[in-house]
Amino acid sequence: MSEFKLLLGTKNPGKVKEAKRILSSMGKGLEIISFHDRDFPEVEETGETYLENSLKKAREISRNTGLPVISDDSGLEVVALNGAPGPRSARFAGPDSSDEENLKLLLDKLKGVNNRQARFVTIATLYISPNERYVSRGVLEGRIIREPKGSSGFGYDPVFVPEGYERTLAELGEEEKNKISHRKKALEKMKSEILGIIWERKR
Ligand code: IMP
Repeated sequence: MSEFKLLLGTKNPGKVKEAKRILSSMGKGLEIISFHDRDFPEVEETGETYLENSLKKAREISRNTGLPVISDDSGLEVVALNGAPGPRSARFAGPDSSDEENLKLLLDKLKGVNNRQARFVTIATLYISPNERYVSRGVLEGRIIREPKGSSGFGYDPVFVPEGYERTLAELGEEEKNKISHRKKALEKMKSEILGIIWERKR
């Protein structure tokens, strides 16, 4: 019986490393492939929801490569901003905005605001065929502080303190962050779907 081949639908080396670490514990029966082994074109994120974006990425990369693909889309939701920036987190300050510009805009919008509650959300989509698609969700609750702290990570990490912690994600560092992140939770949930698929194919 051949292994179930799964292509990671991201060109971000950090995400590839993180996904490989999480999924490799599934052992035999699953072969994880990344853009390092099999190249594919970049997919533009044009959707208004995480689901649209993650499904679009997974579907297009799967059609391009002929392989089952797992993709994700994430964002930061701030309660006092009615859930913004949400799926537009990467382009909050404009189409080609940098992490620094987005972070500065966020802090400007939250000046004088006392409710700092926020969450990171990830929707992961596993696309095998038009009739075989799986979706999972991961959430990391926390709050936005007033000044950036720490230097690791990316995006809004320097201003996000997870619930139950006193330090930002940028202060916690990659290893600690990857244990609790929204992406990690979404991928962990997807593992049971993947196990089911492998089991079905063995029958
Ligand atoms: P992506 O869908 O994972 O590429 O995330 C889209 C955008 O959401 C990023 O460009 C960041 O602005 C923000 N974001 C998502 N996940 C994180 C995170 O773990 N830390 C900080 N910012 C994040």
